[in-house]
Amino acid sequence: MNPTEFSSELQKQGIILSDQQKKQFSIYFQTLIEWNEKMNLTALTEEGDVYLKHFYDSISAAFYYDFTKKINICDVGAGAGFPSIPLKICFPHLEITIVDSLKKRIGFLNHLAEELELEGVHFYHGRAEDFGKNKQFRGKFDLVLARAVARMSVLSELCLPLCKKEGHFIAMKGAQGEEELNNAKKAIKTLGGRLSDTYLFNLPKEDSERTIIVIDKEKDTPKKYPRKPGTPNRQPIE
Ligand code: SAM
Repeated sequence: MNPTEFSSELQKQGIILSDQQKKQFSIYFQTLIEWNEKMNLTALTEEGDVYLKHFYDSISAAFYYDFTKKINICDVGAGAGFPSIPLKICFPHLEITIVDSLKKRIGFLNHLAEELELEGVHFYHGRAEDFGKNKQFRGKFDLVLARAVARMSVLSELCLPLCKKEGHFIAMKGAQGEEELNNAKKAIKTLGGRLSDTYLFNLPKEDSERTIIVIDKEKDTPKKYPRKPGTPNRQPIE
């Protein structure tokens, strides 16, 4: 998907990019490729792949959820900024907080945010398990997002504690999303969530399947969660 196709595919979904936003995506691509030579940020380096499988894929959350409101979002394990930075470029009013356990990637994101002249973005180096215990962040976000971080049962423990009551958690998954969801039912309920919707679709131009899972935060998460760093992964609530 080249940049022109990217813009027209987004337009079909009602997202119209200005010249400035198109330029921001171009700077994002160039900065990603430049820094990827010094550190491991992405396995995808072809322009068409980055535009389709990182940029478009990240923005696909907005085909199913309303990002036009001024909401505050936490992106858990954003790595090189996915999905929240492409969403921020499309919807500049969003307030974005990223937590990632790899310091080098936070360094990249700070540089990227300057290059893109983004405001209302905050980056933290740390573990989501610790973040979810911190009073400054626990239960504070309208929406928590995560793409390609952990399987659904584990991810729920990293993300749901950060959601406000009546807020949402969106997991962006591949073809295995529904199967993961089946194994995460106990975790979601235990952590105060309730399944709202599951959306299945294919990326344009190629047939790889995607699953977007939307969870409502119904109740406060019990105090004991999230457990210590590493425990959700070793002993998932299943
Ligand atoms: N979300 C990005 C994407 O879709 O391209 C990055 C995915 S990468 C496979 C997973 C990222 O999650 C890494 O950058 C890793 O450092 C981060 N991560 C994994 N476990 C984490 C945790 N418990 N707390 C914070 N970050 C975590």
